[in-house]
Amino acid sequence: MSDWQARDRQYLLPTYKRLPIAIAEARGNRLIDTEGKSYLDLFTGLAVNILGHSHPKVIKALHEQGEKFLHISNVFLNPPAIRLAERLIEQSIPGKVFFSNSGAEATEAAVKLVHKWAQADGQGRRGFVVMKNSFHGRTLGAVRLTRQPGVYQDFPQPDVPVYEVEPNNREELRRIVTENRPAAILAEPILGSGGILPLYEEYLQEMEQLARREDLLLCMDEIQTGVGRTGKFFAYQHAGIQPDVILFAKGIGGGLPLGGIIAGEKTAHLFQPGDHGTTFAPSPLSAALGNAVLDVLLEDGMMEQGRNHAQYLLGLLSDLAKTHPQSIEGVHGKGMMIGIRTRKSPEEVSRLQQQLLQDGFLVNIAQQTVIRLLPPLTLTPEESDQFVDHLEYLITQQA
Ligand SMILES: *Cc1c(COP(=O)(O)O)cnc(C)c1O
Repeated sequence: MSDWQARDRQYLLPTYKRLPIAIAEARGNRLIDTEGKSYLDLFTGLAVNILGHSHPKVIKALHEQGEKFLHISNVFLNPPAIRLAERLIEQSIPGKVFFSNSGAEATEAAVKLVHKWAQADGQGRRGFVVMKNSFHGRTLGAVRLTRQPGVYQDFPQPDVPVYEVEPNNREELRRIVTENRPAAILAEPILGSGGILPLYEEYLQEMEQLARREDLLLCMDEIQTGVGRTGKFFAYQHAGIQPDVILFAKGIGGGLPLGGIIAGEKTAHLFQPGDHGTTFAPSPLSAALGNAVLDVLLEDGMMEQGRNHAQYLLGLLSDLAKTHPQSIEGVHGKGMMIGIRTRKSPEEVSRLQQQLLQDGFLVNIAQQTVIRLLPPLTLTPEESDQFVDHLEYLITQQA
């Protein structure tokens, strides 16, 4: 056991199963550990480093804003954050932005906003329809909406009605909405932690129709899928729908903590001074990095390049699945958010992950048997070739 590992065990609560590796430095699409070993990063700090590491425009923004000031509080106007909010609205729906420091806090803001909306509306609507196996965060309000028993079962459940439905079952969704009169539907367009499970476009469109017909709010959790990861700015845009509330975080801060919600026209008037807030967010530094991320994605064409390169990776993986149907059940996802659903046991998949790591490829596992890839949009076709070739080699060895 290394010294860092021993001290980690002694001084940090073990809320995560950590790899026994300390990273010394990260450049582009690669991580380098304290032993000098290099890894291709197909995990990006859990969907955060959308442009890989140390992107020159992100680093430039870090220096420029860092030299001005780091924190001023919400008492003042915050130009980088105003500019960022404006651009997020341009990329999504008419409305207003509330910034938070994390994804869970974005969910908390959405829960309070939906509650205010339902109260103002006065028709007695309450609670949320959410997907089985959804993930919306770990604070008490957010964990209520996270439908993974291992995540919520040991904790108090706030009094918010929650109706859990099977993803992609349109009939059940219709029935639950009509019978229960919830205030909102909340869904990830692709369930991330739930195993890279995409909601079908027809299903998302059904959600939109139900929301209009029954007069409830459609909330999209784009915390993992957003900011260009799936090839569009937000993943709901593939289905051509218009949500009422959008949650974002992870990729937006260029590696710094930043999240928030976009409240559409039905809800943008509801929060008044005192209704909600946070000391830190929006950090001017995070917001400056957010603007740099948008410059690269939208003005330098990185979103489009990422979409094309992701198409290439997805093609390789689909071929791999066809060649090895005994090991791979299927490949799911969009853009740089891909799940390789294996037919292996959790132990075998865990060993595969360890072996990949040893050979210099960092991947994540979701729902025990799905290899979850969250590569940076900057991943090159050559890097995709290297990874898929090596994965094939290991699968053949294991079979
Ligand atoms: C990561 C994630 C969250 C929670 O974000 P935190 O920043 O970890 O609080 C919520 N929803 C989705 C879809 C996520 O992937």
